[in-house]
Amino acid sequence: MPIIAQHKWRWCGQCQGLWYSGATGNPNGACPGTHPAGGAHSKASSGDYALFGETQPAGFPANLLAQQNWHWCSQCGGLWIATSASPKGFCPKPGTNGHTEAGSGNYTLLAEP
Ligand SMILES: [Zn+2]
Ligand SMILES: [Zn+2]
Repeated sequence: MPIIAQHKWRWCGQCQGLWYSGATGNPNGACPGTHPAGGAHSKASSGDYALFGETQPAGFPANLLAQQNWHWCSQCGGLWIATSASPKGFCPKPGTNGHTEAGSGNYTLLAEP
């Protein structure tokens, strides 16, 4: 089955995070590593990372170790996953109350056994 990957994910040397630089309206996101926080992420020295997105048909092979439900945050551009301890995490964009999954796909990261 084809696995669809999405590139333009970049590493930010200011916050050490991964964010999506291909968003039409907010390509620089909001970085927690700027002063004041919430400035642009930096892709200097970053590679072009590709993340696994949707699969067709839905789902990965059962023998593939992967973790789903990672989301892109349209406010800060970052990649995040909800946990029971911190369901929305902390979003560095000023004036927000946690990350948002609105408009995001369901990203899957490969995991080691
Ligand atoms: Zn950053
Ligand atoms: Zn966010």
